[in-house]
Amino acid sequence: MYIDTHAHINDEAYNNESPENLLKRAKEDGVKYVIAPGVNIESSRQLKDYSEKFPGVFFASGIHAHEASKFYEKDFLEIKHLLEHPKAVAVGEVGLDYHYEFSSRTLQKHVLSRFLKLAISIDMPMIIHCREAEEDFYSMLKEMPKIPRGVIHCYTGDVKWAKKFLDMGFYLGFTGIITFNKSEEMRDVVRNTPIDRILTETDSPYMTPSPRRKIRPNEPRFVTFVADKIAEIKGLKKEEALPVFVKNAEKCFGIELK
Ligand SMILES: [Zn+2]
Repeated sequence: MYIDTHAHINDEAYNNESPENLLKRAKEDGVKYVIAPGVNIESSRQLKDYSEKFPGVFFASGIHAHEASKFYEKDFLEIKHLLEHPKAVAVGEVGLDYHYEFSSRTLQKHVLSRFLKLAISIDMPMIIHCREAEEDFYSMLKEMPKIPRGVIHCYTGDVKWAKKFLDMGFYLGFTGIITFNKSEEMRDVVRNTPIDRILTETDSPYMTPSPRRKIRPNEPRFVTFVADKIAEIKGLKKEEALPVFVKNAEKCFGIELK
C-alpha cells in the first residue's frame, strides 16, 4: 500500500476533472490514501467536503505562504473550526516561500507565526512549506514556547538543515524531485534521513516524477515512483520500505490506515 501525504486534488490544474477519477486511478496503483492540504479558506472548505465524500481522503487546513497577503481574521477562525473535523489531520499548508515571494516576507512570517501558535495550542501536527527560507523558519521555531510537530513537505533544503529539523522532531516529505537526474543533492538528503522520518508525497499537480515526466498535471497515483525510489536509495526491498512509509504517516498525523 502507498500513501500520498500531499496532493492538491482540487487544484485548478485539473480543470475540474472529478477527484473521483484521480482517486480511482490512484487506487488502481495501490495508493489508497491521500492527504489534501488547503491553501486558503475556499480550498480548505472544499477539501473538507471531499474528505466526507471519499473514504481515502484526509485534509489539512491553512493559508499558504503564497496567499499570506489574503489573511483575514474571520478565515483564521473558520480554519480553526474546520480543524475540529474528524478527518482534519493537520494545520497546513502554511509556511514561508522566499523563492517566489508572492507576499512580503514580513507578512508571511506574521501569518506563519499565527499558525505555529495555533498548532501548538490545539496540539495538532503541521504541514510546512519552506522554500529558500530555512534560516527564518528555524529562528521562528526557536522563538515558540514549544516546537510543534509535523512534516516539512517537499523538502528542498540541504543535508545540514535537514539534520536540524530532524533533531527538532520533524518528518521530511519527499516528492518526484528525487527521481530527477539533476537531483543528486536531494537523494543525498534521503540517504541522510532515517527511514522512520520519511513521508512519501507527490505535491500534485506539481513535481511529476521523471518516469512520467510528460504527464502534467502530476497526480496521486505517481507517488509509487517516489516511494519506490526512496526504497532503492535506502537499499531496501519495496516490501520492507512501503509499510514503513504508511506507518510514518500514521504516526505523524495520528491516523489509522487499513
Ligand atoms: Zn502543497
